[in-house]
Amino acid sequence: MIIFGTRGVTLTSEKGDFHCPQCASEQAYKYKKVRRFFTLYFIPIIPLDLLGEYVECQNCRGTFVPDVLDYDPNAEHDEFMAEYERAIRHSMVLMLLADGVIEEQEKITVLNIINQTGHHDMSMAQLEVYIQKVQQEKQPVSTYLKTVAPGLNNHGKEMIIKCAYSVSMADGHMADEEFRLIQDMAKSMDMTSAHLNGVIQEVQKEKVFSAN
Ligand SMILES: [Zn+2]
Repeated sequence: MIIFGTRGVTLTSEKGDFHCPQCASEQAYKYKKVRRFFTLYFIPIIPLDLLGEYVECQNCRGTFVPDVLDYDPNAEHDEFMAEYERAIRHSMVLMLLADGVIEEQEKITVLNIINQTGHHDMSMAQLEVYIQKVQQEKQPVSTYLKTVAPGLNNHGKEMIIKCAYSVSMADGHMADEEFRLIQDMAKSMDMTSAHLNGVIQEVQKEKVFSAN
């Protein structure tokens, strides 16, 4: 039997130095391109379409849209957020909306995680406006993550899973449908179940994100 398929392959296309908005200093970067390949027996053979491209900081491992290379740290506006930070924020809110009930404790957990892990703090009022915006879009978290995954490296994907896991544990236990949602999220980002299990074991050990 001939086994064929497609998968995304990440390749470095150039290297250099840039001003990393997250490190707030000059750092080395790698410019990555994610291209879909036709695979034969799991080996990439023929390059197909470009799925995404991003700039990866070699110090903090944050990924950014390519425009970050023109980033002027002295300009007032033009704020760059790492792609995983944006995706963490969005997927945690989708996670919170998944069961149709917005609980106070969940909101507090989401806000704490945003302000503990990110570089762009939010107030509760800002989070509430953001929740409303995401609610109106009515996009499932798996659909959302499929579109942003080509801009994320493993570090970013793992952070998203860890934060989603912490939100689902906000009420002290993991419901079956919450766990299924996390599995869906991992699958949408092309993570294997072994990779997901490793990340969950890590977050259970770390207990990085407190509920209070
Ligand atoms: Zn950096």
